[in-house]
Amino acid sequence: MSRDYYGTLGVDRGASESEIKRAYRKLARELHPDVNPSEEARERFSEITAMYEVLTDPEKRRIVDMGGDPLDSSRGGGGGGGFGGGFGSGGLGDVFEAFFGGGGGGGGRGPRSRVQPGSDALIRVNLTLDECATGVTKEITVDTAVLCEVCHGKGSASDAPPAACGMCQGQGEIQSVQRSLLGNIMTSRPCPTCAGTGEIITDPCGECTGQGRVRKRRTVSAKIPAGVGGGMRIRLSGQGEVGPGGGPAGDLYIEVNERTHPVFVRDGDDLHCTIRVPVADAMLGGQVQVETVIGEALDIEIPAGTQPGHTVTLSGRGMPRVRGGGAGDLTVHMEVVIPEKLDRKRRDLVEKLRGMSHDAPEVVNEDTARRGGLFSRLRDAVAGH
Ligand SMILES: [Zn+2]
Ligand SMILES: [Zn+2]
Repeated sequence: MSRDYYGTLGVDRGASESEIKRAYRKLARELHPDVNPSEEARERFSEITAMYEVLTDPEKRRIVDMGGDPLDSSRGGGGGGGFGGGFGSGGLGDVFEAFFGGGGGGGGRGPRSRVQPGSDALIRVNLTLDECATGVTKEITVDTAVLCEVCHGKGSASDAPPAACGMCQGQGEIQSVQRSLLGNIMTSRPCPTCAGTGEIITDPCGECTGQGRVRKRRTVSAKIPAGVGGGMRIRLSGQGEVGPGGGPAGDLYIEVNERTHPVFVRDGDDLHCTIRVPVADAMLGGQVQVETVIGEALDIEIPAGTQPGHTVTLSGRGMPRVRGGGAGDLTVHMEVVIPEKLDRKRRDLVEKLRGMSHDAPEVVNEDTARRGGLFSRLRDAVAGH
């Protein structure tokens, strides 16, 4: 189920960078959200943009040619989540360059440096609520470009300096003249032979084929602070992709995916849980123990006369605040459970209880709803719909 990069963009496997750029530009003219606002077009546009970025990155294209899928590895362990949402510094520049035709001759950009800063990388990590509450150090396997240890980023096997590119005479760009109704238009585009650098490495390093970087799987130790939650990102500076030519690495972002907890439901820094209270404990009072997310045993008092829906809020027993400063609250919801069936003995007892009680079922009005806010509860329920 690997993506068909070349087929989707409609180019041959041997296509040059400029052919890929042309094919992408043609598709982008039909699919760009400014031109075609449909949801399907928006999705296809982000798909072809992601593919275009892969195929115009020599390192990533090499992975595709070897049967791999660079968009998969960048998606990390968490699964899901489309095409990385515009991650990667410099990527947007390339997109604009392709879409608007690579500048109009002015500007005088000249060759671009062979050494480019690397892009950021994103990986997702699954954490339990307990791990989010206490903080945790995780060993995370990442797959990124790292500096080539053989040539230290130079790209050459020897100390020989790179030679000027013969295709563009070291200019890094190729100019062409197009005729139009308005006269001749001079356009320039990056030289495909030297990828716009103006330089050719004549004796490429055997380890990195002159790229100055290689892909490597490694383990990163990430210290995740207490209080994090789903969707939060932790930045590990300089642990992202090493750039072309051994350029400085981007950052690695670790995105937290919080697993659901069997007991607690999280609402920001606050936690909620539900206690099942048998009717006798609701009437007579009782006690229950709750184990918190940081492993503390809390004794919760069930007051005599507990009403269904009664809540107890324990301040500071929720999630620790990730930026410091205490913790949220824990709210315990009491669910009074009425037995569905009674054996003869219990039935007799409850009959006796009824005989002693002065209460009878009645329609609630503002006078009879003496306690428990029964009337306002009805108003709230109706207003909630
Ligand atoms: Zn090397
Ligand atoms: Zn060139």
